[in-house]
Amino acid sequence: MTTIILRPKKEESLRRQHPWVFSGAIARVVLDAKHRGDAPEEGELVQVRSAANEVLGVGHWQVGSIAVRILEFGVETLPADYWTQRVRAAYKVRETLGLVEKANDTYRLIHGEGDFVPGLIVDVYADTAVVQAHSVGIHCCRREIAEAIVAEVPQVENVYYKSDDTLPFKAPIEGEKVGYLVESQKTKDHFVQSEEFWSTENGLQFRIDWLRGQKTGFFIDQRENRALVERYAAGKEVLNMFCYTGGFSLYALRGGAKSVDSVDVSQKAIDLVEANVRKNFPKAKNHRAVTADAFEYLSAQRAEGRQFDLIILDPPAFAKHRDAIKNALRGYQRINAKAIEMIRPGGILFTFSCSQAVDKEAFRLAVFSATAQVGRKVRILHQLHQPQDHPINIYHPEGEYLKGLVLYVE
Ligand code: SAH
Repeated sequence: MTTIILRPKKEESLRRQHPWVFSGAIARVVLDAKHRGDAPEEGELVQVRSAANEVLGVGHWQVGSIAVRILEFGVETLPADYWTQRVRAAYKVRETLGLVEKANDTYRLIHGEGDFVPGLIVDVYADTAVVQAHSVGIHCCRREIAEAIVAEVPQVENVYYKSDDTLPFKAPIEGEKVGYLVESQKTKDHFVQSEEFWSTENGLQFRIDWLRGQKTGFFIDQRENRALVERYAAGKEVLNMFCYTGGFSLYALRGGAKSVDSVDVSQKAIDLVEANVRKNFPKAKNHRAVTADAFEYLSAQRAEGRQFDLIILDPPAFAKHRDAIKNALRGYQRINAKAIEMIRPGGILFTFSCSQAVDKEAFRLAVFSATAQVGRKVRILHQLHQPQDHPINIYHPEGEYLKGLVLYVE
């Protein structure tokens, strides 16, 4: 196996089990005999050693500032049943959390570094697991991963691979980036008949379109926060901005909201919201879905003097990179100010940021600036996070990305 030797003292973060080796930490690379070129191949499994030649672990080589993502610490090679072990351990956690049951068959099975598998995301929707690779190393292992999932997770019969948007753009990739890795005959037949797949979250049914939907088809990370909206929704006029498939809207309807307006710029998202409302509340007359840009919609509603009792703001990541943070904060401030202005006295705002580059304090400061700009009296009722099936590896605090505030607006 190719060996990566670190510069003196550069092994310290690996000793603390932080899973990334930065390219600047590398003293030299000793290629194994089969190489013809002068560097490891992207996705290759490599061994990492300290300057004093101690074994630190094995991981996948990648091109870029993160050169190796460690899969296992303190070993010279991966055990033959590595993927089985990892999937089994991750599944056990989800079982312990009570997420694997009839009323809830929608959960994240593997959350990258949070489950000690850098670069791998696996979401489960009823009998289908959707796998997303964020590194070439994971891409190369996709078939073994799929086999381990089907063997270890009793409910799963299909594994769909969806990595067209997540693999490094310039990397040389062999094989397909999308398509079924395992597909049961039952699923094939069903697909020919209806093309519709449904999955259950806390007793509510959602149509999941992993073929054309965003990410793996659904945002599982808002499950707990949606349940909190349900608690506050009774009798309220609710506005769900950036609704995607309408997760928050369905919980608000079940909580007895007087009315729910769902807004998203994507027509595909709005079609899914409408299908989901029809399926769960076939007689509902108090739901309205609108295809519109959020900023324009809020301005237009305000011009008409419209107000709401409960508003949810769950925008896409405004900052995808560190350099975009300033603009992102301005975006959060602007959208929150617009929303707070439209809340009736005694109303509630659920506001979120899923930008990993914007930390809790920075987000809270942006929301503070918005409330100060509008000049309303505001209390923080809850501080929200990502749920338990999106765990944070204690050695990898960068894994904390979702944060939210629930505000009471006088
Ligand atoms: N709240 C959703 C997830 C939101 S993801 C849930 O619980 O599932 C962010 C959504 O914002 C996406 O559906 C995207 O289509 C939508 N979006 C992006 N830019 C927008 C804009 N300018 N106006 C309205 N919606 C937008």
